[in-house]
Amino acid sequence: MSFEFLGLSDELLRAVGDSGYTEPTPIQRQAIPTVLQGRDVLAVAQTGTGKTASFTLPMIDILAQGRARARMPRSLILEPTRELAVQVAENFEKYGKYHKLNMALLIGGMSFGEQDKVLDKGADVLIATPGRLIDQIERGKVMLSGCEILVIDEADRMLDMGFIPDIEKICNLLPPRRQTLLFSATMPPAIKRLADQFQKDPKMIEVARPATTNVSIAQSMIVVPERSKREVLRALLRGEDVKNAIVFCNRKKDVRILHESLTRHGFSAGQLHGDMEQPERLAVLEKFRSGELPILVASDVAARGLDIPGVSHVFNFDVPVHADDYVHRIGRTGRAGRSGTAITLATEDDAEAVATVEKLIQQPIPRREVPEGVKLVEGRASSSKRRGERGAKKEAAAEKPTRSRRRKSEADKAEAPREEAKPASAKPAAPAPERAEPRAEPRAEPRGSDRERGERAERMERGADRGRGRGRDERRDEYRREDRRQRYQDRDRERDEPVLGFGDNPPAFFLVAARGPEKDEDKGA
Ligand code: ADP
Ligand code: MG
Repeated sequence: MSFEFLGLSDELLRAVGDSGYTEPTPIQRQAIPTVLQGRDVLAVAQTGTGKTASFTLPMIDILAQGRARARMPRSLILEPTRELAVQVAENFEKYGKYHKLNMALLIGGMSFGEQDKVLDKGADVLIATPGRLIDQIERGKVMLSGCEILVIDEADRMLDMGFIPDIEKICNLLPPRRQTLLFSATMPPAIKRLADQFQKDPKMIEVARPATTNVSIAQSMIVVPERSKREVLRALLRGEDVKNAIVFCNRKKDVRILHESLTRHGFSAGQLHGDMEQPERLAVLEKFRSGELPILVASDVAARGLDIPGVSHVFNFDVPVHADDYVHRIGRTGRAGRSGTAITLATEDDAEAVATVEKLIQQPIPRREVPEGVKLVEGRASSSKRRGERGAKKEAAAEKPTRSRRRKSEADKAEAPREEAKPASAKPAAPAPERAEPRAEPRAEPRGSDRERGERAERMERGADRGRGRGRDERRDEYRREDRRQRYQDRDRERDEPVLGFGDNPPAFFLVAARGPEKDEDKGA
């Protein structure tokens, strides 16, 4: 079936044709005619199924009639992150090229001046992140009383980031007579409640469950000791036919550590996590898209929902804490009908998390061997053998910290760049740095983190000694706490963007981050 039967205008069909699409995806096929009818839609479909076009296309046609008034956008699209907002804006530009629609973008880290002008002229579409939007509403810069279409995109992601109260607030500012479209990859109860509260008799569209249906992704898992993960990853990056890859870590701290490690080993890699400033994030993404950086190390918060076509590999450096994240992560590859590979590195302690993921995707993830030539740290390779030795090893670790420190330095050695490393396609031309380099010298951040990590591992081992499984629980709790902390931090950052009072032209010194004690005086201002 082609796009022609969905009721879209000729101009739009032309723009769709220009973008190279020949057939609507299942979600587009179902959503587009319904949105054109003016009905609410509640759509659940995995990432990469083309949800964006299923609301942007009909919206463009609906908005083609009518005119916007100053400061009163006619439609609003809420996105959880700046990157996603930018992506949707790009979609609008692409599909709307034969229409004359005004689009404004309100996201953290972007100067408001130019967008303010668009809003002043009257915006047909406003694309915003919730925190930033509320900011501008409170300042009287935007009014939502003329907004007749609301899109809540990536709703489950909004939930994860703690945006639901903001969304409720925003919904209550819109006129009650409006069309509300909600899109989500999953439908947790809180999202269902949001839909019940703010939608009227929505058409429920569900496209088959994530990952189970996306057969174009070849999934596998390798069970490795924690300390061998980096070496295994490097072997995979070199050995596999990696065109480009996203490597996911559970925590942003680990994103930084792994990014630095890969770079040290000569890979051209970029990183993406919630602590980075907006221009930096966009620059890295652009380099990844263009192929300049074939490897991107990322956290879930930063990377979820991103549409980067043609990602050949996804690596889970950690088994995600939330099973849903697994689906989102691997959904970065195998997009739009292309095939992709997703490889997960798991430790034996991850058994429970892995079981949860497998339950969610309703299929076992095939296990595969450690790549040839990788010597696992301490030779703790065979899992069956390990189990027997484990207790004794842990005792030793608990009782003799010196010994375990020595073990760590061995692990460090195993980490050192290998000369025989062969460049693969994703592998950089850049030569591996000198071997002797960083080991001994105090490298402030990562070394501290490394040590912290080592200490934590020890603590956990000791914990596990006291009662089987305890260490794992502790670690899981710790992960959850850290995960929650990270999500909240990201959300707060989103809200706490500094406000500049000079429009587009603040003096340069205003943009320099304050340092030292004078930073604390903000409260007095
Ligand atoms: P989602 O929001 O469901 O995660 P996106 O809307 O970001 O997915 O789309 C995923 C990818 O599929 C994008 O690269 C998009 O350009 C592509 N795409 C969308 N619709 C089609 C289509 N009908 N045919 C081919 N590719 C499509
Ligand atoms: Mg999307």
